[in-house]
Amino acid sequence: MDTVIDRLTESQAIFLSTHINPDGDAIGSLIALGLGLQQHGKHIYLYNASPIPAVYRFLPGVQLVQQVLPESSAWDTAVVLDCGTLDRIGVAVDFVRGLPQVINIDHHVTNTNFGQYRLVDSTACSSAEIVYRLLKKMAITIDAAIATSIYTGILTDTGSFRFANTNSAAYTICSEMVQAGVDPYTVAQHVYGTYSLGRIKLLNMALDSIEISANGKLSLMTLTQDMFRETDTNPEDVDGMINYAKRIEDVKVAALIMENENGAVQKRYHVSLRSDGTVDVAEIAASFGGGGHFSAAGFGVESSLKALKKTINSIAEKL
Ligand code: 5GP
Ligand code: MN
Repeated sequence: MDTVIDRLTESQAIFLSTHINPDGDAIGSLIALGLGLQQHGKHIYLYNASPIPAVYRFLPGVQLVQQVLPESSAWDTAVVLDCGTLDRIGVAVDFVRGLPQVINIDHHVTNTNFGQYRLVDSTACSSAEIVYRLLKKMAITIDAAIATSIYTGILTDTGSFRFANTNSAAYTICSEMVQAGVDPYTVAQHVYGTYSLGRIKLLNMALDSIEISANGKLSLMTLTQDMFRETDTNPEDVDGMINYAKRIEDVKVAALIMENENGAVQKRYHVSLRSDGTVDVAEIAASFGGGGHFSAAGFGVESSLKALKKTINSIAEKL
Protein backbone atom coordinates (compact mmCIF):
# COMPACT_ATOMS: atom_id res chain seq x y z
CA MET A 1 0.00 0.00 0.00
CA ASP A 2 2.76 2.47 0.97
CA THR A 3 4.64 2.03 -2.30
CA VAL A 4 1.45 2.58 -4.30
CA ILE A 5 0.74 5.72 -2.27
CA ASP A 6 4.29 6.99 -2.90
CA ARG A 7 3.93 6.39 -6.64
CA LEU A 8 0.56 8.16 -6.74
CA THR A 9 1.84 11.05 -4.66
CA GLU A 10 4.82 11.55 -6.96
CA SER A 11 2.65 11.40 -10.08
CA GLN A 12 1.22 14.53 -11.67
CA ALA A 13 -0.99 13.17 -14.43
CA ILE A 14 -2.76 9.87 -13.77
CA PHE A 15 -4.65 7.82 -16.35
CA LEU A 16 -7.26 5.53 -14.77
CA SER A 17 -9.09 2.70 -16.49
CA THR A 18 -11.28 -0.29 -15.76
CA HIS A 19 -12.74 -3.27 -17.66
CA ILE A 20 -14.95 -3.32 -20.73
CA ASN A 21 -18.68 -3.85 -20.15
CA PRO A 22 -18.19 -2.27 -16.73
CA ASP A 23 -20.26 -3.25 -13.72
CA GLY A 24 -20.97 -1.12 -10.64
CA ASP A 25 -17.66 -1.98 -8.99
CA ALA A 26 -15.65 -1.13 -12.09
CA ILE A 27 -17.36 2.27 -12.52
CA GLY A 28 -17.59 2.95 -8.78
CA SER A 29 -13.94 2.25 -8.01
CA LEU A 30 -12.85 4.22 -11.10
CA ILE A 31 -14.83 7.34 -10.19
CA ALA A 32 -14.07 7.15 -6.45
CA LEU A 33 -10.32 6.96 -6.98
CA GLY A 34 -10.44 9.54 -9.77
CA LEU A 35 -12.31 12.09 -7.67
CA GLY A 36 -10.08 11.38 -4.68
CA LEU A 37 -6.88 11.94 -6.67
CA GLN A 38 -8.35 15.07 -8.23
CA GLN A 39 -9.05 16.39 -4.72
CA HIS A 40 -5.40 15.60 -3.98
CA GLY A 41 -4.36 18.01 -6.76
CA LYS A 42 -3.69 15.43 -9.46
CA HIS A 43 -4.50 15.80 -13.12
CA ILE A 44 -6.70 12.77 -13.95
CA TYR A 45 -8.10 11.04 -17.03
CA LEU A 46 -10.86 8.48 -16.44
CA TYR A 47 -11.33 5.97 -19.26
CA ASN A 48 -13.59 3.07 -20.12
CA ALA A 49 -13.81 1.49 -23.58
CA SER A 50 -17.56 0.81 -23.22
CA PRO A 51 -20.45 3.22 -22.75
CA ILE A 52 -21.46 3.72 -19.11
CA PRO A 53 -24.54 1.54 -18.42
CA ALA A 54 -27.66 3.70 -18.00
CA VAL A 55 -28.18 2.55 -14.41
CA TYR A 56 -24.80 4.02 -13.36
CA ARG A 57 -25.16 7.38 -15.10
CA PHE A 58 -26.51 8.96 -11.90
CA LEU A 59 -23.12 8.67 -10.18
CA PRO A 60 -21.65 12.09 -9.35
CA GLY A 61 -18.52 12.52 -11.48
CA VAL A 62 -19.64 10.05 -14.17
CA GLN A 63 -19.29 12.78 -16.81
CA LEU A 64 -15.52 12.61 -16.28
CA VAL A 65 -15.37 9.11 -17.77
CA GLN A 66 -14.19 9.23 -21.38
CA GLN A 67 -14.72 6.55 -24.01
CA VAL A 68 -11.83 7.82 -26.13
CA LEU A 69 -8.15 7.71 -25.30
CA PRO A 70 -6.33 10.96 -24.54
CA GLU A 71 -4.61 12.55 -27.53
CA SER A 72 -1.25 12.97 -25.89
CA SER A 73 0.60 10.41 -23.84
CA ALA A 74 1.68 12.97 -21.25
CA TRP A 75 0.52 10.71 -18.42
CA ASP A 76 3.09 9.48 -15.96
CA THR A 77 1.03 6.73 -14.34
CA ALA A 78 -1.75 4.32 -15.30
CA VAL A 79 -4.06 2.83 -12.68
CA VAL A 80 -6.00 -0.24 -13.80
CA LEU A 81 -8.95 -1.13 -11.58
CA ASP A 82 -11.04 -4.30 -11.17
CA CYS A 83 -9.18 -6.17 -13.95
CA GLY A 84 -7.77 -9.68 -13.47
CA THR A 85 -5.72 -9.26 -16.63
CA LEU A 86 -4.53 -6.10 -18.36
CA ASP A 87 -6.28 -6.95 -21.63
CA ARG A 88 -9.67 -6.62 -19.88
CA ILE A 89 -9.41 -2.86 -20.50
CA GLY A 90 -9.83 -3.46 -24.25
CA VAL A 91 -8.29 -1.22 -26.90
CA ALA A 92 -6.36 0.88 -24.35
CA VAL A 93 -3.88 -1.96 -23.65
CA ASP A 94 -1.11 -0.64 -25.89
CA PHE A 95 -1.60 2.91 -24.64
CA VAL A 96 -1.29 1.78 -21.01
CA ARG A 97 1.73 -0.42 -21.73
CA GLY A 98 3.41 2.64 -23.20
CA LEU A 99 3.08 4.68 -19.97
CA PRO A 100 6.02 4.80 -17.52
CA GLN A 101 4.31 2.85 -14.73
CA VAL A 102 1.18 0.76 -14.21
CA ILE A 103 -0.59 0.28 -10.86
CA ASN A 104 -2.88 -2.74 -10.65
CA ILE A 105 -5.73 -2.45 -8.11
CA ASP A 106 -7.98 -5.50 -7.99
CA HIS A 107 -9.70 -8.22 -5.95
CA HIS A 108 -9.83 -11.16 -8.40
CA VAL A 109 -8.15 -14.41 -7.26
CA THR A 110 -7.04 -14.98 -10.82
CA ASN A 111 -5.23 -11.61 -11.04
CA THR A 112 -2.10 -12.12 -13.14
CA ASN A 113 -0.09 -9.56 -11.13
CA PHE A 114 0.50 -7.35 -14.13
CA GLY A 115 1.96 -3.87 -13.65
CA GLN A 116 4.96 -2.65 -11.69
CA TYR A 117 2.93 -1.84 -8.56
CA ARG A 118 -0.03 -3.73 -7.17
CA LEU A 119 -2.78 -3.58 -4.60
CA VAL A 120 -4.38 -6.97 -5.18
CA ASP A 121 -6.43 -8.48 -2.38
CA SER A 122 -8.83 -11.33 -3.11
CA THR A 123 -10.28 -11.11 0.41
CA ALA A 124 -11.71 -7.67 -0.43
CA CYS A 125 -15.40 -7.83 -1.37
CA SER A 126 -14.81 -5.41 -4.23
CA SER A 127 -12.26 -3.14 -5.82
CA ALA A 128 -14.23 -0.29 -4.22
CA GLU A 129 -13.23 -1.67 -0.79
CA ILE A 130 -9.54 -1.45 -1.75
CA VAL A 131 -10.02 2.08 -3.11
CA TYR A 132 -11.72 3.04 0.16
CA ARG A 133 -8.71 1.80 2.17
CA LEU A 134 -6.33 3.60 -0.16
CA LEU A 135 -8.18 6.93 0.09
CA LYS A 136 -8.29 6.63 3.88
CA LYS A 137 -4.58 5.96 4.08
CA MET A 138 -3.91 8.97 1.81
CA ALA A 139 -6.06 11.10 4.16
CA ILE A 140 -8.36 12.06 1.28
CA THR A 141 -11.78 13.29 2.42
CA ILE A 142 -14.52 10.91 1.34
CA ASP A 143 -17.19 13.41 0.35
CA ALA A 144 -20.74 12.48 -0.70
CA ALA A 145 -19.74 12.07 -4.37
CA ILE A 146 -16.87 9.68 -3.63
CA ALA A 147 -19.02 7.89 -1.04
CA THR A 148 -21.76 7.27 -3.61
CA SER A 149 -19.32 5.53 -5.93
CA ILE A 150 -17.79 3.41 -3.18
CA TYR A 151 -21.22 2.46 -1.87
CA THR A 152 -22.46 1.52 -5.35
CA GLY A 153 -19.35 -0.58 -6.02
CA ILE A 154 -19.81 -2.57 -2.84
CA LEU A 155 -23.59 -2.86 -3.17
CA THR A 156 -23.44 -4.24 -6.71
CA ASP A 157 -20.38 -6.51 -6.37
CA THR A 158 -21.84 -8.20 -3.29
CA GLY A 159 -25.23 -8.63 -5.01
CA SER A 160 -26.76 -6.39 -2.34
CA PHE A 161 -24.88 -8.17 0.46
CA ARG A 162 -25.99 -11.64 -0.67
CA PHE A 163 -23.00 -13.11 -2.52
CA ALA A 164 -20.23 -15.16 -0.90
CA ASN A 165 -17.78 -12.24 -1.06
CA THR A 166 -19.93 -10.22 1.37
CA ASN A 167 -17.66 -9.49 4.32
CA SER A 168 -17.76 -7.39 7.44
CA ALA A 169 -15.97 -4.54 5.64
CA ALA A 170 -18.85 -4.35 3.15
CA TYR A 171 -21.20 -3.40 5.99
CA THR A 172 -18.86 -1.13 7.92
CA ILE A 173 -17.73 0.81 4.86
CA CYS A 174 -21.28 1.17 3.53
CA SER A 175 -22.46 2.38 6.92
CA GLU A 176 -19.72 5.02 6.87
CA MET A 177 -20.67 5.98 3.29
CA VAL A 178 -24.27 6.55 4.40
CA GLN A 179 -22.97 8.83 7.15
CA ALA A 180 -20.96 10.65 4.48
CA GLY A 181 -24.17 11.48 2.62
CA VAL A 182 -25.23 8.46 0.53
CA ASP A 183 -28.96 7.82 0.38
CA PRO A 184 -29.37 4.01 0.03
CA TYR A 185 -32.88 4.32 -1.38
CA THR A 186 -31.78 6.70 -4.15
CA VAL A 187 -28.91 4.43 -5.15
CA ALA A 188 -31.17 1.35 -5.14
CA GLN A 189 -33.76 3.15 -7.26
CA HIS A 190 -31.16 4.00 -9.90
CA VAL A 191 -29.36 0.68 -9.89
CA TYR A 192 -32.27 -1.75 -9.52
CA GLY A 193 -35.46 0.22 -9.95
CA THR A 194 -35.27 1.86 -13.35
CA TYR A 195 -35.15 -0.82 -16.04
CA SER A 196 -36.24 -0.06 -19.59
CA LEU A 197 -39.16 -2.06 -20.99
CA GLY A 198 -36.68 -3.59 -23.45
CA ARG A 199 -34.62 -4.93 -20.57
CA ILE A 200 -37.65 -6.66 -19.08
CA LYS A 201 -38.47 -8.16 -22.50
CA LEU A 202 -34.86 -9.32 -22.82
CA LEU A 203 -35.15 -10.95 -19.40
CA ASN A 204 -38.19 -12.80 -20.69
CA MET A 205 -36.13 -14.15 -23.60
CA ALA A 206 -33.23 -15.00 -21.30
CA LEU A 207 -35.51 -17.00 -19.01
CA ASP A 208 -37.04 -18.71 -22.00
CA SER A 209 -33.59 -19.73 -23.29
CA ILE A 210 -32.67 -21.70 -20.15
CA GLU A 211 -31.53 -25.25 -20.78
CA ILE A 212 -30.67 -27.72 -18.02
CA SER A 213 -27.99 -30.41 -18.42
CA ALA A 214 -28.96 -34.07 -18.33
CA ASN A 215 -27.73 -34.44 -14.74
CA GLY A 216 -29.53 -31.26 -13.66
CA LYS A 217 -26.37 -29.68 -12.27
CA LEU A 218 -25.79 -27.03 -14.91
CA SER A 219 -28.14 -24.41 -16.29
CA LEU A 220 -27.43 -22.50 -19.47
CA MET A 221 -28.86 -19.21 -20.63
CA THR A 222 -28.17 -17.82 -24.12
CA LEU A 223 -28.44 -14.25 -25.37
CA THR A 224 -27.90 -13.47 -29.04
CA GLN A 225 -27.45 -10.25 -31.00
CA ASP A 226 -30.88 -10.90 -32.55
CA MET A 227 -32.42 -10.70 -29.08
CA PHE A 228 -30.67 -7.38 -28.38
CA ARG A 229 -31.91 -6.01 -31.70
CA GLU A 230 -35.47 -7.20 -31.13
CA THR A 231 -35.68 -5.61 -27.67
CA ASP A 232 -33.50 -2.57 -28.45
CA THR A 233 -31.12 -3.46 -25.61
CA ASN A 234 -27.35 -3.73 -25.07
CA PRO A 235 -24.94 -6.03 -23.24
CA GLU A 236 -25.26 -3.75 -20.18
CA ASP A 237 -28.87 -4.94 -19.85
CA VAL A 238 -27.69 -8.53 -19.25
CA ASP A 239 -26.18 -7.62 -15.89
CA GLY A 240 -27.60 -9.87 -13.17
CA MET A 241 -29.71 -12.10 -15.42
CA ILE A 242 -27.50 -15.13 -14.85
CA ASN A 243 -28.61 -15.14 -11.21
CA TYR A 244 -32.00 -16.50 -12.30
CA ALA A 245 -30.27 -19.51 -13.87
CA LYS A 246 -28.17 -19.94 -10.73
CA ARG A 247 -31.19 -19.98 -8.43
CA ILE A 248 -32.66 -23.15 -9.93
CA GLU A 249 -32.85 -26.08 -7.53
CA ASP A 250 -29.95 -28.58 -7.70
CA VAL A 251 -27.99 -26.36 -10.12
CA LYS A 252 -24.33 -26.12 -9.11
CA VAL A 253 -23.11 -24.05 -12.04
CA ALA A 254 -24.98 -21.55 -14.17
CA ALA A 255 -23.58 -20.41 -17.50
CA LEU A 256 -24.65 -17.51 -19.66
CA ILE A 257 -23.52 -17.30 -23.25
CA MET A 258 -23.64 -13.82 -24.71
CA GLU A 259 -23.00 -13.22 -28.38
CA ASN A 260 -20.78 -10.18 -28.94
CA GLU A 261 -21.30 -7.71 -31.72
CA ASN A 262 -19.67 -8.63 -34.99
CA GLY A 263 -16.33 -6.95 -35.45
CA ALA A 264 -16.07 -5.98 -31.78
CA VAL A 265 -12.69 -6.14 -30.03
CA GLN A 266 -14.00 -8.98 -27.90
CA LYS A 267 -14.18 -12.58 -29.01
CA ARG A 268 -17.39 -13.83 -30.63
CA TYR A 269 -18.95 -15.11 -27.40
CA HIS A 270 -18.59 -14.19 -23.75
CA VAL A 271 -19.42 -16.86 -21.22
CA SER A 272 -20.32 -15.94 -17.64
CA LEU A 273 -20.17 -18.63 -14.97
CA ARG A 274 -21.68 -18.65 -11.49
CA SER A 275 -21.54 -21.42 -8.91
CA ASP A 276 -23.53 -22.28 -5.83
CA GLY A 277 -20.32 -21.95 -3.78
CA THR A 278 -19.26 -25.62 -4.05
CA VAL A 279 -17.53 -25.36 -7.45
CA ASP A 280 -14.55 -23.14 -8.33
CA VAL A 281 -15.69 -21.47 -11.56
CA ALA A 282 -12.60 -19.22 -11.62
CA GLU A 283 -10.61 -22.37 -12.32
CA ILE A 284 -13.00 -23.46 -15.08
CA ALA A 285 -12.89 -19.97 -16.63
CA ALA A 286 -9.09 -19.91 -16.38
CA SER A 287 -8.92 -23.18 -18.32
CA PHE A 288 -10.58 -21.27 -21.18
CA GLY A 289 -8.24 -18.28 -20.86
CA GLY A 290 -10.54 -16.20 -18.64
CA GLY A 291 -10.74 -15.70 -14.90
CA GLY A 292 -12.71 -14.21 -12.02
CA HIS A 293 -13.65 -15.30 -8.52
CA PHE A 294 -14.44 -18.69 -6.93
CA SER A 295 -18.20 -18.28 -7.48
CA ALA A 296 -18.33 -15.79 -10.38
CA ALA A 297 -16.09 -15.90 -13.41
CA GLY A 298 -16.05 -15.56 -17.17
CA PHE A 299 -14.15 -15.98 -20.41
CA GLY A 300 -14.26 -15.02 -24.06
CA VAL A 301 -14.27 -17.60 -26.85
CA GLU A 302 -14.17 -17.87 -30.65
CA SER A 303 -16.52 -20.71 -31.55
CA SER A 304 -19.81 -21.60 -33.17
CA LEU A 305 -22.77 -21.49 -30.79
CA LYS A 306 -23.40 -25.20 -31.28
CA ALA A 307 -19.81 -26.18 -30.44
CA LEU A 308 -19.78 -23.82 -27.46
CA LYS A 309 -22.96 -25.32 -26.01
CA LYS A 310 -21.40 -28.75 -26.39
CA THR A 311 -18.27 -27.60 -24.56
CA ILE A 312 -20.34 -26.16 -21.74
CA ASN A 313 -22.34 -29.34 -21.47
CA SER A 314 -19.11 -31.26 -21.04
CA ILE A 315 -18.46 -29.12 -17.93
CA ALA A 316 -21.76 -30.40 -16.55
CA GLU A 317 -20.66 -34.01 -16.83
CA LYS A 318 -17.77 -33.35 -14.46
CA LEU A 319 -19.91 -31.75 -11.76
P1 5GP B 1 -19.21 -11.53 -15.62
O1 5GP B 1 -19.71 -12.90 -15.79
O2 5GP B 1 -20.14 -10.69 -14.79
O3 5GP B 1 -18.79 -10.89 -16.90
O4 5GP B 1 -17.88 -11.65 -14.80
C1 5GP B 1 -17.80 -12.37 -13.60
C2 5GP B 1 -16.43 -12.24 -13.05
O5 5GP B 1 -15.48 -12.86 -13.91
C3 5GP B 1 -15.99 -10.80 -12.92
O6 5GP B 1 -15.32 -10.66 -11.72
C4 5GP B 1 -15.11 -10.58 -14.11
O7 5GP B 1 -14.12 -9.65 -13.86
C5 5GP B 1 -14.55 -11.94 -14.41
N1 5GP B 1 -14.45 -12.13 -15.85
C6 5GP B 1 -15.46 -12.14 -16.74
N2 5GP B 1 -15.03 -12.31 -17.99
C7 5GP B 1 -13.69 -12.43 -17.91
C8 5GP B 1 -12.66 -12.64 -18.90
O8 5GP B 1 -12.89 -12.74 -20.11
N3 5GP B 1 -11.39 -12.70 -18.41
C9 5GP B 1 -11.11 -12.59 -17.09
N4 5GP B 1 -9.83 -12.68 -16.70
N5 5GP B 1 -12.05 -12.41 -16.15
C10 5GP B 1 -13.32 -12.32 -16.55
MN1 MN C 1 -15.23 -6.21 -8.84
